[in-house]
Amino acid sequence: MTEQIHGLADGGVASPMRRETAFVTVDLDAISHNVEVLSKYAGSAAVMAVVKADGYGHGLVPSARAAIRGGASWLGVAQLSEAMALRNNEIQVPLLSWLHVPGSDFAGAISAGIDLSVSALWSLSEIADAARGLGRTARIHLKVDTGLGRNGAFGDDWQRLLSAARRLESEGVVRIVGVWSHFVYADEPTHPTVRRQEERFALAVADAERAGCDLEVRHIANSAATLTNPGAAFDLVRPGLAVYGLSPVPLLGDPQSFGLTPAMTLSADLAVTKQVPAGQGLSYGHQYVTSQDTTVGLVPMGYADGIPRNATNVGPVSVGGTRRTVAGRVCMDQFVVDLGPASTARAGDPVILFGAGDSGEPTAQDWAEATETISYEIVSRIGSRVPRIYLGGQM
Ligand SMILES: *Cc1c(COP(=O)(O)O)cnc(C)c1O
Repeated sequence: MTEQIHGLADGGVASPMRRETAFVTVDLDAISHNVEVLSKYAGSAAVMAVVKADGYGHGLVPSARAAIRGGASWLGVAQLSEAMALRNNEIQVPLLSWLHVPGSDFAGAISAGIDLSVSALWSLSEIADAARGLGRTARIHLKVDTGLGRNGAFGDDWQRLLSAARRLESEGVVRIVGVWSHFVYADEPTHPTVRRQEERFALAVADAERAGCDLEVRHIANSAATLTNPGAAFDLVRPGLAVYGLSPVPLLGDPQSFGLTPAMTLSADLAVTKQVPAGQGLSYGHQYVTSQDTTVGLVPMGYADGIPRNATNVGPVSVGGTRRTVAGRVCMDQFVVDLGPASTARAGDPVILFGAGDSGEPTAQDWAEATETISYEIVSRIGSRVPRIYLGGQM
């Protein structure tokens, strides 16, 4: 097992003498394992591991490498800056970037061999200009809005976009590599919109093939569809959350029930423990008042580190193997837990906020439920000041 620390404060250089106050541990072998599992769900379809948003908080480049080791043959990101960072770290697998604004550095992307999603005529024409300027062919994936109502060409715009792209393809300016879309209700596989979107997607693919496209990949499935709707796999699946071992469908099953292993553990060391009497208010606004003489512990993590402020009085933690709850308001850098009257905990003792759950610690899903959000938000919002420590794999 290798262990490396990536922090911002010291430019990512691990110091054996430094004690982190709070840290994320990422199990890279879990990420590789999860991609292997997802490949099995995908059948003959290839896996595009989605590593946007700093690998859902797990670290862009280490997560990408771990996913490739697990068999991902594609990577997906939202932003060009993410795609460029992968290329700048010598990651050469096919790579799709899908959320751009006018004026984006399409020339840089084409030069770096990044596939570009096209949802509208403006981006097709900017990409074409960039490709002509370079004397290269841009690889594009045409995105059709099959009902999500977000990005993608909708209705008649789809036909217009397809015709314009085909004209440019015949000139050698672009190559239409893929047609793709995204589900509204992938997490409810029996929702009527799922079938309707699949039908619209099949029609859009047929439009493209009739227009003469020689598509390499058709893709619509995110994590939830990959795990629960094998008929939507087409040529390529695009899981994100499940790559990191979390369940996109918590009502249908936990990670373990799908064979997934959560990769992230969020921990801290107690900064202070102390005795306080019954009736003592804790933290700003005294939103929590002790009901007995007790021991309280100070956890050096707060909303600036991504701990939701609405975890006040509800966020679960594990101290010395016992579940405790955030006591009082979550502050910018810290929060308090009531450790109970019999606690022997001391400053320096570890607190686990969430992990895989194997040792009874809370999970990211537990945090999501306590704070009325989804596990996606819990892991991706962990602040940049929290160092990531990598276990397993190779960097
Ligand atoms: C984020 C994203 C994904 C991955 O979604 P998960 O639910 O995390 O699997 C796939 N496709 C697109 C377009 C996305 O934005």
